[in-house]
Parts: sequence; C-alpha cells; structure tokens
Amino acid sequence: MADDASSTSSGKPGQDDRGGGFLSDLFAPVAGFGVSFSTMFRKVATEEYPEKPRPTAPRFHGRHQLNRHPDGLEKCVGCELCAWACPADAILVEGADNDDSPGGTGRFSPGERYGRVYQINYLRCIFCGLCIEACPTRALTMTNFYELADNDRGKLIFTKDQLLAPLQSGMLPPPFPMVEGLEERDYYQGKVTTSTDAQRAYVDSRDAAADEDAYAQGPGNPGAAVPGEHDVAHAADFTAAQTREGANP
Ligand code: SF4
Ligand code: SF4
Repeated sequence: MADDASSTSSGKPGQDDRGGGFLSDLFAPVAGFGVSFSTMFRKVATEEYPEKPRPTAPRFHGRHQLNRHPDGLEKCVGCELCAWACPADAILVEGADNDDSPGGTGRFSPGERYGRVYQINYLRCIFCGLCIEACPTRALTMTNFYELADNDRGKLIFTKDQLLAPLQSGMLPPPFPMVEGLEERDYYQGKVTTSTDAQRAYVDSRDAAADEDAYAQGPGNPGAAVPGEHDVAHAADFTAAQTREGANP
C-alpha cells in the first residue's frame, strides 16, 4: 500500500529522511529571499508606456492608411477587393466615377473610379492584413500605429478622411486633373513624381472659387468646406513619421 507505515517522505521503504526535510523547511524562506535578492541586480524591464512607447517590429500590423500618388491623387480605385477579402467584414467601400466634366464632382484618382466612401471598423478588425494583400493598387497599407483604444465605439469606425495619408511635399488635395499628357498606367510606372504647375493652378482657382462662394453666403460662414481641406487638417495629427507606405506588405 502506498501509505504503508514503513514508508517515508522519500517514498523508499526503510529510509528515514526526516532530518533533511527539517533542514529544507528551515531554509526555504531564505531561498525565497535569494530569488528576490538576485532579481535586484538584473536589468529593469519596466516599460514607461505611454511616456516612452517602444518601437514596434518593422512589419507590425497597425492602423491602415490609404495612400496617394506623388501629385496627391488617391491610389484607391474603389474596387472593393479589400472589403471582399476581409474575414471580419470590417471594411465598407463605395466607389464612384471620377468626373472631369465642367460642373462635375472632379477627379480624385487617376483611374476611371475612386473610393467615394471608405470605412474601417476597428471594433471588428483583427489586423490580419488580408485586405492589403488583396489591394491591386497598393492603395491600402498598414502603418505601425497601434494606439486605437477609445471609450466611444463610434470613434473606432474610421472614415476615409481619417485613413487618407497626409499630404506630403509636392502633393495637392484632390479633386484635380491628372498630369497633362499622361494616362493612368503612367502613374503606376513611376512617371509622376510631383504635382505640375497646371495642377497647382487648377487647385488655386478651385479654392479661390470656393472662398468666393463662402464669402457670398455671408460673414457668418467664412470657412465653407473646401474639397480636400480635411486632408490637410488630418496631416497635422497623423505625422509623416507614422506613415510608412508599403512598410507592411
Ligand atoms: S486587417 Fe484583416 S480584419 Fe482588418 S480590415 Fe484588413 S482584412 Fe479585415
Ligand atoms: S483600397 Fe485597394 S482594394 Fe480596397 S477599394 Fe481601394 S483600390 Fe480596391
């Protein structure tokens, strides 16, 4: 029987280790303090977040970004492939036609269509990256930005103006025409490196007309929305350091 009277704590009949058990019981607290003492001299691993956030791994899957061409036109063509690829049904896309005609809505991307509505629901997103794999134009990539917590569920549904990359040097806020003399494919062949004088002139006249319209509506409405102005505002709070196009394919 296992609990035979002749058995000892060592489990071997006939051996009596009651003296060793007494000593180990006696020094057990000292051994515990030894662990504490040796830990005191190890390098501290405490992270001072959020004061000093640690850099992420280079291919970290963070917040998404909708990228632009070097002149500022959007890369998204509203094809919805990202939404179909998403296993969490977190993306909503509604495409629309670019309209260069007089009085039209204007051109937002070099192609036939653009993403008029674009939303990502970060309450659903699992950051798997399948959407950026599916995107045929490299319009959608992921950044290293991960501070997405909020106590308002509505604020975790990011809209297009939040997801669009901020305007970098040489870029203009759409809508405006493509670089004169070039086709859509030229944008993907790297033939566009910045906005042109003609594009800048178009945007200047467009903004001037918008200012006149706002002024005509009265002094109480001096700042009517100019197409694309939300892009500029967004650039201030989502810095270039956080935008890493193509960093996480
Ligand atoms: S990362 Fe994954 S879950 Fe998140 S939007 Fe893209 S496909 Fe959907
Ligand atoms: S982000 Fe890419 S895949 Fe999604 S709608 Fe735009 S072009 Fe298509």
